[in-house]
Amino acid sequence: MKRAGIIGHPVAHSLSPVFQEAAFRQAGLNARYELWDTPLGALPVRVESLRAADVLGANVTIPHKEAVVPLVDELGGQSRYIGAVNTIVNRNGRLVGFNTDGPGFVAALRDEAAFEVAGRSILLLGAGGAARGIAFALADARAAAIGITNRTVDRAERLVAAVAAAGGQATVIRPGDPLHRFECVVNCTSIGMNGGPDPSGLPIELDALNPGALAVDIVYVPEVTPFLAAARDRGMRTLGGLPMLIYQGALAFELWTGIPAPLDAMAQAARAELQRRANPPATGTAR
Ligand code: NAP
Repeated sequence: MKRAGIIGHPVAHSLSPVFQEAAFRQAGLNARYELWDTPLGALPVRVESLRAADVLGANVTIPHKEAVVPLVDELGGQSRYIGAVNTIVNRNGRLVGFNTDGPGFVAALRDEAAFEVAGRSILLLGAGGAARGIAFALADARAAAIGITNRTVDRAERLVAAVAAAGGQATVIRPGDPLHRFECVVNCTSIGMNGGPDPSGLPIELDALNPGALAVDIVYVPEVTPFLAAARDRGMRTLGGLPMLIYQGALAFELWTGIPAPLDAMAQAARAELQRRANPPATGTAR
């Protein structure tokens, strides 16, 4: 039996095992997906263990996406520009790092919201790790303009400079700048996330946005965030964060196995698990 798994700390609530195991089953692969909870001190040993012949590779999540970069043998795709890896592939004992978050986002926009990035203007709210991956993927997909706004402005400035150095068209958006030209607005902050810093907050004042724009949230718990609810109230089209999660996982699956990912089975398994978590079965015995 082959193995893959997720490296992070903590990882107990990760959805990845649910939809990756569904993908292995649907594809008829004799493989399982494990939770590899790894404190920082144990990271080098954990990454080394991925060279074993039965290991397909790993996903990497918070807080290790940057720390694993020097531990792999090679960086593939855009991960060298992004400076973060979310997928490791074991190629006969040689470890190759990729970042599928941004490409997963672009694929989700295309397939789930019929939004083609090429030639379009997109505003990113946030400049953290996820925004970074998304910004490079948007540049790679030939977005005409990428605006980036962030609470910590110098972080947005650094990201804009990095995207520009890689050939992308990005600008820092400051409070008061006009936002009407953006055809898609993406919440890449953790505002609105259950258990996050501001679960009921909004990442931006929605009156400033073009009502014809597509509103996207990469937060996926809850499925309809306050930002998406407010955008719907304004009549805007919306897309939640679950498709991005599924597509980044599907791209990882394809890198590990070399076969097309069974997207429907993955999405179905993830949705069922989120529903199960939102409505846990009643415990106790009826008397
Ligand atoms: P991160 O690197 O910690 O970045 C957090 C971002 O949120 C930064 O831009 C930060 O601004 C901003 N922020 C946090 N609290 C804020 C507040 N109270 N007010 C204003 N801005 C605030 O995190 P990340 O890895 O980018 O993840 C961001 C979110 O995306 C998380 O909710 C994560 O679950 C989600 N995500 C989803 C997917 C998916 O597949 N759907 C993938 C990756 C991440 P500062 O720079 O000013 O701190």
